[in-house]
Amino acid sequence: MAATSVALSPRPVDPSVDHGIRAILSGAAAGSTCSTDLADGPWAFDVEEGYGPGASMADVIPTGAPRQGELPRAYREAPEAELHDRIRAAKAALGDRVVVLGHFYQRDEVVQHADYVGDSFQLANAALAHPAAEAIVFCGVHFMAETADMLSGTEQAVILPNLAAGCSMADMADIDQVEECWEQLEDVLGPLDAPDADGLVPVVPVTYMNSSAAIKGFVGRHGGIVCTSSNASTVLEWAFARGRRVLFFPDQHLGRNTAKAMGVPLDRMPMWNPRRPLGGSTEQTLRDSAVILWHGFCSVHRRFTPAQIAQARAEHPGVRVIVHPECPMEVVDAADEAGSTDYIRKAILAATEPTTFAIGTEINLVQRLAAEHPQHEIFCLDPVVCPCSTMYRIHPGYLAWVLEELVAGRVVNRISVDASVTAPARIALERMLAARPAGS
Ligand code: SF4
Repeated sequence: MAATSVALSPRPVDPSVDHGIRAILSGAAAGSTCSTDLADGPWAFDVEEGYGPGASMADVIPTGAPRQGELPRAYREAPEAELHDRIRAAKAALGDRVVVLGHFYQRDEVVQHADYVGDSFQLANAALAHPAAEAIVFCGVHFMAETADMLSGTEQAVILPNLAAGCSMADMADIDQVEECWEQLEDVLGPLDAPDADGLVPVVPVTYMNSSAAIKGFVGRHGGIVCTSSNASTVLEWAFARGRRVLFFPDQHLGRNTAKAMGVPLDRMPMWNPRRPLGGSTEQTLRDSAVILWHGFCSVHRRFTPAQIAQARAEHPGVRVIVHPECPMEVVDAADEAGSTDYIRKAILAATEPTTFAIGTEINLVQRLAAEHPQHEIFCLDPVVCPCSTMYRIHPGYLAWVLEELVAGRVVNRISVDASVTAPARIALERMLAARPAGS
C-alpha cells in the first residue's frame, strides 16, 4: 500500500490517445498498439461486421448488432481543427436545447466538447438533471444511451453519435439466453418467485449497469436489481437479504471480485456458460451455489495481468497499483486497491504527496488523469495501447454530424427503449438507488 514520495517536477502529458497511437504507428514514438487500424477513422469499420480495432476486436459480435450508416464525406475528410470549430458552433447555436455527455473512456478529442464527463451512472444522472433539454447526445456506448433514454423525459431525444458503439460485455448477456437460463434454474430449484419458510426466494437476478435495457427489464420483472461497480457490494447485500442465491450478469469478474471480498467461497460461485446445458454446472453445484456468475467479461479489463503488476513493482518501487473490479480476480488480488473509475479518480485526487500510480483501466482515462495530475507519475499497467473498441467508434466527425443535424431540425441516431421494457427496468434501477449499505 506504500506510496512513492519522489520529487517529480510537473511535466506536460498529451491526454490524446489518438495522437499517441499515430505517433507510435509513424515511428515518431516508442511503444506498441494492439492494432494498426487504430490510426484509421472509425468510419472505415462502419461498413464491416465486428467491433472494430481495439480491445474487443476478437469478440464475437451478435447477429443483428446495430450498424452505422455512412458518415457524410464532409465529416470524414474534415481536418480535426475544422471539426472542433463546427462542434463548437453547433453547440452555441443549440444552447440549452442540447446536453453533450462524455464517458471517462471516450477519446480526448470528444470529451473536450462534453458538458459532463463521468461514468455511465453519473452521466445518466446528468441527463436527468436537464429535463428541459430537447436532445441528449451521449458520447459513450449503446447501453448507456438506453439507460439515459429510460431515465429521461419521453420528449427528450437521446442520441448515440455512432450506432456501432455497442459494448462487447453487454452483448455477452443476450435476453433470450438469460430467459433460457431462468427456465433451467427453475427446473432445478423450483418456482423462482416462491419464498421459502425464511422468506427468501431461490434466486435474485442482479445485473451490472453494463447490460442491455432488455436485461434490466428482465431483472426488474423478476424481483432483481441493477448495480454499478461503485455499489456492487451494497447491491449484493440487498439481494442476499431477499434470496438464497444471486444470478449475476454479465460481468463474471465484477461478480466474483465483489462476492469474494464479502466472504463468499469460490466453490460456491459456479459459472453459467449459456452455450452449455445447465450453464456447464451440475444440479447439485447450482443448489449449493451462492452466486451464479454469467460467462461475460470486459475485453479491456481482461488485458491486465499479475505479471504486469509484478513488472510495475520491479520498475517502480513503492508504486501504488489500483485496478478496476472488471479485471480478473488474480489481478485484483495482486493490486493494492480495486475500485470503480470514480474510486480511481478520487484516490488520485486525494494523494497529497507526489506518487507513482499504476492504473488498470481504459487507457483514455489513465492518459487524461496523467495529464490532469502532473505532480504524480501515472501510467497504464498494460504497455500495449489498446483502447475500448466501441468507445473508439465515437469520433469528432460523428459528434459534429449529429449536432449539425440537430441545428437543421433533424434528429439522427436516436436511441429509444420500448415502454414495455422501460417500466420494469426503471423498477430495477430505482431499487438500486434505494439500496443502502448494511448499518447505514
Ligand atoms: S470498457 Fe469494457 S465494459 Fe466498458 S464499454 Fe468498453 S467493452 Fe464495454
